[in-house]
Amino acid sequence: MDYKFFCPRCSGDCSIEEVLVDVVMASVITSIERDCADYGDYSTDGGVIDHFQCLNCGFTILDEEGRVISDYELLYDYLEEFHTLEDDE
Ligand SMILES: [Zn+2]
Repeated sequence: MDYKFFCPRCSGDCSIEEVLVDVVMASVITSIERDCADYGDYSTDGGVIDHFQCLNCGFTILDEEGRVISDYELLYDYLEEFHTLEDDE
């Protein structure tokens, strides 16, 4: 389902970014210098959701009691409460 997220900090109509920890990331190196490299495609494996945040300003999404939301069910409830879920129809 599509959603709208109106960020309480930057007041924007923003996208939600999922932030993972404990994730293994593998990247293809496309070119290299002595002190850095450029990357192409990457893949990730594993990972645990740490929090969801505003893509624009980094605001961490909290529930009504101020706790960090870190699973889809609670995020869905949050969006449902603010009436920002949109049916495709
Ligand atoms: Zn924001």
